[in-house]
Amino acid sequence: MGQCFSFFIQVLGAYAQAQEDTQQQQQQQPNQQQQQQPHYGAAESGGGGKLSPIYPSLPPNAEKHKVRNVYDGDTLTLVDERRVRFLGIDTPEIKEKQPFAQEAKAYTKERCDKNDIWISFEPNGDKKDHYGRLLAFVWVREGSGYLCVNEGIVAAGLASAYIPNQHSKLHNWDKLIQLQSDARKHQRGMWKTFQDDTVYKTANGSAFHKKSCQHLQNIRNLTELKRSQAMERGLHACRTCLAD
Ligand SMILES: [Zn+2]
Repeated sequence: MGQCFSFFIQVLGAYAQAQEDTQQQQQQQPNQQQQQQPHYGAAESGGGGKLSPIYPSLPPNAEKHKVRNVYDGDTLTLVDERRVRFLGIDTPEIKEKQPFAQEAKAYTKERCDKNDIWISFEPNGDKKDHYGRLLAFVWVREGSGYLCVNEGIVAAGLASAYIPNQHSKLHNWDKLIQLQSDARKHQRGMWKTFQDDTVYKTANGSAFHKKSCQHLQNIRNLTELKRSQAMERGLHACRTCLAD
């Protein structure tokens, strides 16, 4: 009888322990998700793994501003009338009615228009371009973190990674390229209709062209490459021969 009772207690103890374990697991799961959010929270906007454009905090020296107007996917005006050109990206042109130009504008407008934003600059980079526009990374609140809009719009397939000056590299350039490759792989946004055709570049140019382009006449050292390779080097489509 005594043995039987102590066996019963053991079974009861084991059962209670098992229940406690289950409860702990259930409690731990939401916590784990919260902790992972800075890295994995943006799956639907094109992140995944360490490629998320959402960060747990703003970069040091980020400046808070209000937006007056979103001009297109990569340009906006602050309430103090200064114009901001998003660094490291290029979006389709509204004026030229390029495909996905309106979608790119809508992405930025939805997040930035009439909203608090923060801007930050490339460490040791130029703060302005030759039009006097601020060259910046733009940040908005997203959940408990901050979305880098420059990275988010590339992840959404509505902007390509682009450096105006091929000789100065951005701190997050590799990430922008990875986000772009990821968007292409998953055919997001403009990558749905992407054709990986053959294009040409000059030795030092920042654009890629069709072979018949007027800008390539009389140039000897042309490099032939795939359009995807050209984009992964941060080159942009020539506005003359490849304007859609
Ligand atoms: Zn061209």
